[in-house]
Amino acid sequence: MKPAPFRYADPGTLEEAVAVLADEGAGAKVLAGGQSLLPLLSMRLAAPTTLVDINRVPGLDALEVTGDGVRVGALVRHNDLLGGHPDAMAAARVQPLLARATAHVAHPAIRNRGTTVGSIAHADPSGEMTSVLALTDGSVTVATPSGTRTVEWRDLFVGPLETSLHGPEVVTAAFFPALPERSGTAFAEVARRRGDYAVCGAGVVVSLDADRRVAAVRASYVSVGLTPEVHDLTEAVAGKPVDSADWAAAGALARTLVDPDTDIHASADYRRLLVGVLTERTLASAAAEAAARVT
Ligand code: FAD
Repeated sequence: MKPAPFRYADPGTLEEAVAVLADEGAGAKVLAGGQSLLPLLSMRLAAPTTLVDINRVPGLDALEVTGDGVRVGALVRHNDLLGGHPDAMAAARVQPLLARATAHVAHPAIRNRGTTVGSIAHADPSGEMTSVLALTDGSVTVATPSGTRTVEWRDLFVGPLETSLHGPEVVTAAFFPALPERSGTAFAEVARRRGDYAVCGAGVVVSLDADRRVAAVRASYVSVGLTPEVHDLTEAVAGKPVDSADWAAAGALARTLVDPDTDIHASADYRRLLVGVLTERTLASAAAEAAARVT
């Protein structure tokens, strides 16, 4: 199918982009990589009156890496985080979950064009980057007609494909705080074919104390629940020496905390089973990484 007719604008500045969105009203939508929006248009599941293409806006392709975290500009493509950007390695060192999860996003052609921020703005419960934003306690920066505001992940995701963004707003960047010291991460998922949306995915962070005992365990899942959630699994393994912690117990706890849906891809029971298995496996891997970071 072909999209319904729409107007197209390609502003050259951020201010112009926000102004065009304001002028065009509720029917206007931001176009970034187009890898989610254009299929929706082609299937006539969305019919915006105007697409405001932000690809000519300067500065939105910045990837800023500091000791505090990684700021991913709105035009940073998935592939940039996998080595396409000169600072990709530095970003992966500061917050390893970013590249680890991005490696599971779609196929190379889509990753060349699709953006991390677009994934977050799209708010698909099957997307990896919403889950990573939550797990890292991240936020987004939003340009509005009256200036800039920061939205924490908890206040961003309202429902499937729905965020708290409203009116003429452009997300200019997503911020992913740095991995805390003495911590490790892992990300894994099950998909029917490599590059497909996950049937279930899991990202975890394990933090240790100076004696290599488990101090904190957090997990977030993909394709489980309507919006991203972070689950605290610490109580299952708190205070245990990292080498003898019972990660299966943490997996069992995770199974009791999630509320997955049944759809054409998998039953809720199967997803719950995967949550347990993926949690146990990723925690073992993240714990080993955390142990290696305790000096
Ligand atoms: P667009 O498609 O341009 O926009 C998506 C939505 O976000 C639109 O509503 C748009 O208005 C809004 N938006 C985008 N940028 C901004 C902004 N800066 N400010 C405000 N609103 C904005 N994704 C996954 O996470 N995992 C997968 O496994 C996966 N598999 C895929 C497989 C296929 C076959 C396809 C076609 C896509 C897949 N995707 C997957 C989606 C892909 O990751 C998209 O790139 C991503 O979801 C959206 O990014 P985009 O830059 O293409 O956004």
